[in-house]
Amino acid sequence: MNTLQELTRIVQAAAAADRTEDQVKLIVEAIHRAIAVDVCSLYIAAADGAMVLVASHGLDQQAVGYSRLPAGRGLVGRVAQTRHPINVAKAAAHPDFCYLAETREDEFTSFCGVPVVRAGAVVGVLVVQSREGRVMSADEQAFLVTLSTQLALVLPPEPLAVHTPASAVRRVRGVKGAPGTGIGSAWLCENLDLYSVPDRPCEDPAAAITEWHQLLSTVSKDVANERRALGDQLSEGVSGVFTAYQMLLNDPGLRLGVEQAIAAGQWLPGALRQVVHHYAEVFLAMEDPYLRARNEDLHHLGNKLYQSWAGASANLPADEHGPLILVGAKVSVSDIAACDPLRLAAIVCYEGSSLSHTAVLANALGVPAVMGTGKLKNIDDGSPLIVDGNTGQVILYPSPSIRLEFERLQRAEQALKGELASLRDEPATTPDGVRVRLMANTGLLADISPGLANGAEGIGLYRTEMPFMISETFPSEEEQLHTYRQVLDAYRGRPVYMRILDIGGDKPLPYFPIHEENPALGWRGIRFCLDNSSLLMTQVRAMLRAAEGGTENGADLHILLPMVSNSGEISAFKGVLDDALQQLHGEGVNVRRPQVGIMVEVPAAISLLPAWAGRLDFISIGSNDLSQYLLALDRNNPRVAGAYDHIHPAVLQEIARITASATTSGLPLSLCGEMAADPAAVVFLLGIGIRTLSMSASKLPRIKWLLRSFSAQDAATLAQKALTLDNSADIRTLLEGALHQRGLGRLLGSE
Ligand code: PEP
Ligand code: MG
Repeated sequence: MNTLQELTRIVQAAAAADRTEDQVKLIVEAIHRAIAVDVCSLYIAAADGAMVLVASHGLDQQAVGYSRLPAGRGLVGRVAQTRHPINVAKAAAHPDFCYLAETREDEFTSFCGVPVVRAGAVVGVLVVQSREGRVMSADEQAFLVTLSTQLALVLPPEPLAVHTPASAVRRVRGVKGAPGTGIGSAWLCENLDLYSVPDRPCEDPAAAITEWHQLLSTVSKDVANERRALGDQLSEGVSGVFTAYQMLLNDPGLRLGVEQAIAAGQWLPGALRQVVHHYAEVFLAMEDPYLRARNEDLHHLGNKLYQSWAGASANLPADEHGPLILVGAKVSVSDIAACDPLRLAAIVCYEGSSLSHTAVLANALGVPAVMGTGKLKNIDDGSPLIVDGNTGQVILYPSPSIRLEFERLQRAEQALKGELASLRDEPATTPDGVRVRLMANTGLLADISPGLANGAEGIGLYRTEMPFMISETFPSEEEQLHTYRQVLDAYRGRPVYMRILDIGGDKPLPYFPIHEENPALGWRGIRFCLDNSSLLMTQVRAMLRAAEGGTENGADLHILLPMVSNSGEISAFKGVLDDALQQLHGEGVNVRRPQVGIMVEVPAAISLLPAWAGRLDFISIGSNDLSQYLLALDRNNPRVAGAYDHIHPAVLQEIARITASATTSGLPLSLCGEMAADPAAVVFLLGIGIRTLSMSASKLPRIKWLLRSFSAQDAATLAQKALTLDNSADIRTLLEGALHQRGLGRLLGSE
């Protein structure tokens, strides 16, 4: 081979093509001809470091653009990681070998891979493979290395158009597998699927049968090890999964069935596929849903045997990837056992039901799981996911605000288990007999149970934007009705304060982007709702219908208006409410006029409260926005977040003013911002006379503990003192000191 000539020819041919896809195709074809190899493939590094097959002569074309090896995995990953060629006669014997079934590469024995490096970074790996088990000659390897440097220049600066995830937030519904909320990165457990194995003749049946027996014994040992790995955490019932696997492995039907299929001329993986498929079908045809779900056990076991035969092992990513969410058609017990329990955040199965052993095991381990989602499209290893096992849904690519909300929820769940559970049914009454009403803030259906379990006396703030944010379009009236009804039903007989859509600012809707110079001061809250009055009408109708029958029916709906800053907004909303009531009465729906109040969060509202008192049924202080607007500090801007503090003296003065104004006007008042859960702030709020607080469910027990330990009289004295101080630090020192004195220091500094 005249290396220089070949090189020039290949590079020229590539340069002549217009599209990169065509260029890489031409290159792999040309290399295959130049050095007479059976396979020549090019893998390109995706943004997450995974290596994606983008062109191949010799491998299955179905795999091109799809087949990917997570960063550092397989021989290709190894070449990329070490920036060093691997040139071996028998790829499968290499410790890093990882078999990609979809490429059908099992018929090729040798492997030679060289890195493609540009500007110091590995951008791809060029691979040649042959049927014949031979090491490439030094000349051939040098040719590939030289070519790879040329290739680096041809490849575009951006990764090729591989099938990268559409990183838009999406919600996928499945069925509840195990309760709880899991937040983490996807780890796909679907590399090897026995059912994709093709028929192929067996050249040496006797050797294949021996191999089969060895395989059974290896996998039997693996299962025993996995059982031991999970041992401590398994209940008797759940360890039955492993017993079931062992029974299947010892089952003569499986052993003999595979032997017979091999003897009939089928290669081992093909024989295994035939037999497993046959028995799985038998289970699937059973009437009993429990037995039907056992077909999955067979499939899991079949995959496990196949995986072991192929020498592939699930190399879980290194620790820096954080909590993992196992995702796959059928996440197996082995996948779960292979994952460090401390990193296992949740499980998602495309198939299966709550009866699947995967779900049973997840329940036993306390790992949230969602089953039967159907294939999750456009996700990769590392894609961010939220698994909501309480409602059976998965959120892909959650936005920061959705993530925050779920993190809050997750903390709520943890707190549920905490030591404060015993206070659940006790009232929040101070030692000197002042009763404070504690309610929950929520926005997710999944939040409902933690709220109730923590003794919430109602929902003080239902953020309706949450169901809007996890939807793909504006939810219809019926969809909203369904959601709101569940909330009101769960809190039957207790007040529910539903806020109309408060989007804009820090709460964007993915399908309704609003681009503004200054979103905090822009089109948000009631301003947005009134300008989009048909959306508002739909929402108000849904709320009213959800509360059909009113309090007689146990539905105690209150409507809360966000970001109100002028009188016209209250009148305009009332106009929409009147229309909605009239429409629904006309339609024969038994709806009642709900109480209507506003969030006091725009400072302008404070001065106007006396004027509005006659038009409002209640007010609720939104201390988050109120502090942000009083201090002109963006609560979500990390640069200034350190300076944001609701214990700022000016904020406290204004809150005291609002409370006094509400008392004078006889307006019921609550506070529903984060301040309601800050122990030091709660002492102040109790002291100035606030008697209703709403906060995330997880905080309720702690605040209840505080209130039951702190007299209102002492709090009043401290509040008066706090109002004389002119900086946040002194106020905190005063209030926190009082908490320490009463043995409540444990409430500080923790969630
Ligand atoms: C607030 O502003 O204090 C409030 C409770 O509303 P949100 O946090 O939803 O803006
Ligand atoms: Mg607000």
